[in-house]
Amino acid sequence: MKETGVDAPLIELRQVSKRYDDGPPAVDDLSLSVERGEAVAILGPSGSGKSTVLNMIAGLDRPTAGSVLVEGLRVDGLGESGSAKYRRDRIGMVFQFFNLLDDLTVADNVMLPAQLSGMPRARARARAAELLETLGIDRHAHAYPGRLSGGERQRVAVARALINRPALLLADEPTGALDTASGRDVRELLSELNQDGQTILLVTHDIQLAESCATRTIRLVDGRIASDSAVPSVAGPAGGAR
Ligand code: ADP
Repeated sequence: MKETGVDAPLIELRQVSKRYDDGPPAVDDLSLSVERGEAVAILGPSGSGKSTVLNMIAGLDRPTAGSVLVEGLRVDGLGESGSAKYRRDRIGMVFQFFNLLDDLTVADNVMLPAQLSGMPRARARARAAELLETLGIDRHAHAYPGRLSGGERQRVAVARALINRPALLLADEPTGALDTASGRDVRELLSELNQDGQTILLVTHDIQLAESCATRTIRLVDGRIASDSAVPSVAGPAGGAR
């Protein structure tokens, strides 16, 4: 099996459907490609299938039909350990509520995925220190996450997501639990990361996040793509339309 295709799109969904029980499809025959370097925001009303799409790309959920490829790898065909390895080595994930381990220091949280991938502890520690410095939170390296603000915690989560240099950064409502100032901070961070070449796919209700950091916005309705725009044109004439 060919595992990496440099010329292949970074993400490719081919006629993907996901159906839970006997309800209507959560994702309905959806095809999508994302190239390296894009920052894609998936928008849409609650229940439109955004998280399901993200979870299928992360290998956390399997499509009922169709295929999901990331760097040419059939993510939907992976077994449990292959799927865990894929997530550890190729993608970084950021969640609304940070998902940090409260009894580990900031530095240890950031190092963890590197250590799970077999990186020697000293190298993992050095790389974590470098990332914390780049993200402007090195002064908190030895603190516990509970002492940090929401914005700082999300920066730690981003550092942890980046430690294994993932091809793809996935984010599910990364500003959803943040106050205005912290939200702005995280928007700027994601935008800078994309400008430095990081491919990002995020799911959000935050129009400002999409406007400030996405190079492309995809709007889902009922598990289908209602619009796919290469330029960030998410604000309607009134400035607030979704
Ligand atoms: P969004 O992220 O846009 O809010 P979701 O992807 O979470 O949408 O959900 C899409 C649809 O799939 C919804 O109708 C939701 O109720 C349904 N759904 C999502 N996860 C499950 C699940 N684990 N079991 C049953 N239905 C689910």
